[in-house]
Parts: sequence; structure tokens; C-alpha cells
Amino acid sequence: MSEYILTLCYLIASVTFILGLKMLSNPLAARRGNLVAAFGMTIAIFGTIFLYEENGVKLGNYAWIFGGLLVGTVAGALSAKKVKMTAMPEMVSLFNGMGGACAALISAAEFYHIYEAHKATPEMAFADIISVGTYITIAAGAIIGTISYTGSIIAWGKLNGRVKDYSFKGQHIVNMIVLVLVILCAVWAYQSTIATIYLPFLLIGFFAFVYGALFVMPIGGADMPVVISLLNSFTGVAAACGGFLYNNKAMLTGGILVGAAGTLLTILMCKAMNRSLTNVLIGSFGGGNKNKAASGETKAQGNFKEISLADAAMVMAYANKVIIVPGYGLAVAQAQHICHELEKILNDKGVEVIYAIHPVAGRMPGHMNVLLAEADVSYEKLMEMEHANDEFKTTDVVLILGANDVVNPAAKNDPSSPIYGMPILEVEQAKTVIVNKRSMKPGYAGIENDLFFQPKTSMLFGDAKKVLQDLCAEVKNV
Ligand code: NDP
Repeated sequence: MSEYILTLCYLIASVTFILGLKMLSNPLAARRGNLVAAFGMTIAIFGTIFLYEENGVKLGNYAWIFGGLLVGTVAGALSAKKVKMTAMPEMVSLFNGMGGACAALISAAEFYHIYEAHKATPEMAFADIISVGTYITIAAGAIIGTISYTGSIIAWGKLNGRVKDYSFKGQHIVNMIVLVLVILCAVWAYQSTIATIYLPFLLIGFFAFVYGALFVMPIGGADMPVVISLLNSFTGVAAACGGFLYNNKAMLTGGILVGAAGTLLTILMCKAMNRSLTNVLIGSFGGGNKNKAASGETKAQGNFKEISLADAAMVMAYANKVIIVPGYGLAVAQAQHICHELEKILNDKGVEVIYAIHPVAGRMPGHMNVLLAEADVSYEKLMEMEHANDEFKTTDVVLILGANDVVNPAAKNDPSSPIYGMPILEVEQAKTVIVNKRSMKPGYAGIENDLFFQPKTSMLFGDAKKVLQDLCAEVKNV
């Protein structure tokens, strides 16, 4: 009986994962989607703890299980409460690494079970004990999970500045050699006897560990979110291997959903940046340029002009249509609420205000949508890049708030630019462009922006929150 109830629990969990994921695609339903999926996961976890049995024996070990649950819940809840929105990719990366480690440990535990069960016959080969299919599932879980673990931890270190970009000549060849060694060790382990299995198994883990680090080390800063999404899909595949192994439907569904969603997201991000995945993985975009910018090698672009708060307020208050372009700086300044306030003040003066959202503005997909939703900005006012590019022609003022790379015309005009080919918001088509940022420093890709030096553009320097507060006061007085 308990077996049937457990199957039902897994079915409910699988359905909630699918529903939750679907709800995540709509900002209004996203929060509920998360809760729905978490509810399903809770059912699956408690169902397993209390209902799972093998040969009539229940799991037991409740002190360890609930001790682990308690530590994980407290750590997860505290870090989720504390994390800033801009540090979200770091956290996703860290959690993803933990998922990869779990998947790898499941495979390691399975190796150990087989070893223990056949210790009495040390001359038996692994190949005589389990089928190729089962072995591939175990080995794939161990390899992909370990790669995802080290890769994600390096990615986490890079995002918070603890780990620097590192590459050496011929690294891609070394990476390939290490990957081949992983696969050779996996084949060796399958052919090994129970007495000799330990060495090849440990080597699988070692080389996969090294590969994960080597794979992520050279990838440049601006490409990290793409890599994190890719590693996320790896973890999903590794978890799905665990689901196959234990014939656990919830784990299988969850793993497949994460694997598929991660892969799709990776493809979408690459598309939004107009880059191939190969180029992301071996192109070192962002990191190299950042170093260049830091060392002052970027070319000087001439003069830029500044605009005073009073003038900016005047231009906007007398405009018919204003388009706001939010970027990473708006998130850093946490200026979304005051930005919404400015929108309302302008609306009261009869000015139409819309937001132009670039798909990779900020530091994670949908970053700007989430940020503005937090401030209750109406979803209808958010315009995707393609539509916004048609609107700029008929716009009086574009107000850029902490965005840089996503409005850099070099992506269209300069074939030597590392962001060449990335679709951008074509703000220069509007009558006037006002750019708010704190300095002339480059954005995440580390390159200068010619837009700031164009005759239509005026710079409004300062922290986005402070500038917007002052702008609100000024516009009210116009
Ligand atoms: P950028 O990182 O290009 O620029 C942000 C700008 O904000 C900086 O130039 C900075 O200038 C300014 N800024 C920082 N803090 C503040 C503040 N407190 N007040 C006002 N301005 C501030 O951001 P974009 O959003 O334009 O571009 C995102 C980048 O991330 C792109 O390169 C994109 O390819 C990359 N990326 C994003 C992904 C995603 O999923 N969103 C995925 C992959 C890559 P200053 O220091 O002078 O203030």
C-alpha cells in the first residue's frame, strides 16, 4: 500500500514541478509557481522518508536525515533572505554546485553498494554485475555531477571576485585530454574487478573535478551567466541519472526539467548576445576586455556633454513620450521604486512613459522584469527590445538608467568590438538621450560606449537613486 501512496506522491511532485515551471514564465504568477513546486518537492521528500522501503525495510536513520534537513533548511533560508538581487547569479551558482555534488554522491554511493554486495567475490568484473545501461547512468551521474560541482564553485568565485580569469596557451587541448582521460577511466572501471575498482573510480572523480575547474577558469566575466545556465543543465542531467538509477519519477522529472530549461536558457542567452555557445566557451569575452579597460587601454572617444538636473527635468516634463532604459546600475542602486515614482509624476503631467527591456540587461535573464515588478511597475509598460526599437523613432527622450553595454552602438557599427553582432536597444534614434551613471567607466563587457559621445546624448552623473529622487522633485516643480 505504502508503495502506491509513494508513487502518488512522486506523481503529485512531478505535476507541481511542471506547473511551477510554467507559472515562472509569467511575472505575476512566478512567486506562486515557486511555492507550488516547493510544495511538490516537500511531498516527495517526506514521502520518501516515511514511505520508501526496500525488501520491507524502511529508511530509518531519522536523526541523520532530519539533522541534515534542519541544517540545509536553516542555511538555505538564511542565505536566501540575506542575498541581494544583484548577487543572485552567485547564489544560483553555489546552489547549482551543491546539486551537482549531490548527484555525484548518489553515483558514488551506488558504486559503493555494488562493491559491498560483491566483496566476497573480488575476482568478478564490474561488467559481469551490472548492465552497460546501468553503468553508464552511474558513471554519467558521477562525471557530470562532479564537473557541475567544480565548475559552479569556480563560477561562484569568479562572480564574487575571489577567483580571477585564468587561461594558458593550449588550454583547450589540455581540457580535451582531461575529458578523454575521464572517459577512459570510466571504461577502465567497468572492465575492472571488484578487487581493483577503487583506483579507476577515484580517477574518474579526480579528472572530472579537474575538468570542471579548467572548463570554467578561462571564461570571461560577461559570459558567466551563460556558463552558469549551462552548468545548471548539467546538474539537471546528473540528477535525472539518479532518477533513472533509483527509478524515482520525481527525481527523473525534476532532473529532466532542469536539464531542458537550463539548455534552453543557455541557447536563448547566446541568441540574445548573438554569440555561439562555442564562442562563449572558448572566446573569453568580457574577461579579457575587462582587463584591457582596467589597464586604461580603451581608446579615448572625444568630448561628452553633461546636463543639469533642472534641464533634464524640463526636457522630460515637456516631452510627449519618454522611454526609460533600465540596466544593471538601476539594480545596484535599488532605484526601482523611485523610478516608478518618476513614471507616475510624468504621467500626471501627460507624458507617456514606457520601459525598454533588453533581454540581457542586468546580470541574469529577466533581471529588469523582476526588478520593475518589485516596484509594481505595470507589466504592460515593459516593452521588449524588438518593439522598443520601433518606438524610439517617435520618442522625445530616452532616459538610460545604469545601462551601458545594451545600448552600445559598437555592437552594430564596429566589427572589431567583442560585442559586435549583439542586438542592442537603438536609443540614438530618439530625439534626445539622457544617460545616468556615476562615471565614464565601462559596463560589464569592459568596453567604451560611443553613445556617450554623440551630439544627441547628455550625461547625468550620479547614483541612480539619488538622481531619480532629485529628478522627481524637479519635475514636480516644472
Ligand atoms: P552594464 O554592466 O553594461 O553597465 C551598467 C552600468 O551601470 C555601468 O556602466 C555603471 O557605470 C552603471 N552603474 C553602476 N552602478 C550604478 C549606480 N549606483 N547608479 C547609476 N549607474 C550605475 O549593464 P547592462 O545592463 O547595460 O548590460 C548587461 C551586461 O551583462 C551585458 O554585457 C550583457 O551581455 C551581460 N550579460 C547579462 C546577462 C543577463 O542574463 N542579464 C547574461 C550574460 C551576460 P558607472 O560605474 O560609471 O556608474
